Amino acid sequence: MPAVRILPLVTGRLDVDMRIFSGEEGRGTLPVLSCLVEHPEGLVLFDTGLHPELTHDNSRLGRLSRSFGMDFTDDDTVAAKLESVGVRPSDVTHTVVSHLHFDHAGGLTCLPDTRLVVQADEWAAGQDAQAIEQGIYQPADYDLGHDRLEVDGDHDLFGDGSVRCLPTPGHTAGHQSLVVELPSGPVVLCGDCVYTEQLLDEMRTPGFGHDREEQLRSMQTLRELRDDGHRLLYGHDAEQVAALPAGGLV
Ligand SMILES: [Zn+2]
Repeated sequence: MPAVRILPLVTGRLDVDMRIFSGEEGRGTLPVLSCLVEHPEGLVLFDTGLHPELTHDNSRLGRLSRSFGMDFTDDDTVAAKLESVGVRPSDVTHTVVSHLHFDHAGGLTCLPDTRLVVQADEWAAGQDAQAIEQGIYQPADYDLGHDRLEVDGDHDLFGDGSVRCLPTPGHTAGHQSLVVELPSGPVVLCGDCVYTEQLLDEMRTPGFGHDREEQLRSMQTLRELRDDGHRLLYGHDAEQVAALPAGGLV
């Protein structure tokens, strides 16, 4: 296996009503996780965080703007976070998005030269007029003319098995996770298939989503991978993010 490293990047935080997120009372602050995967043949970004405009103006969220507060400054954009680890956005060869929600696809505007890797089902869902009207999808985040690879199911990014798209639908129609083989063992970047370890342990889903039964099946897949020795990085797990090693995962 080639030498691969994962650098987790916290691209801001969301202030949310926890009833929507986990069914608990009150408000909570959730990290927005993006990850840079360094492979000898390319730099892969998994998710891109929030659109830079959200540092000062929530209005692009439309109907969702009332539900989300932002802890997001110019230092938290994906471009700033990449630069903080010595990577120019133009050096990112592939950007894999778990799905097209605003806190995962919003940073694509910072990466005009990257190749966008998205599940075909997700791209189709992101063109749905009703979902756009409801504010679930915001094409201005992702329909930017990128070189785009639409994937249908599993996909091996470099053909050596080290970085692989794993479909985990349910949260959205075409949600995917990313499996990365590190020297220390396999890691799964879960995206929003599951927000936190606790939700996976308890097999609880958020109050909203595309298809709850499908999401539970995808979560079961992740549980089996975890039982099989995969380390999981969850989409919005504050406790896990606080404990991540500064030098990344190797
Ligand atoms: Zn989402």
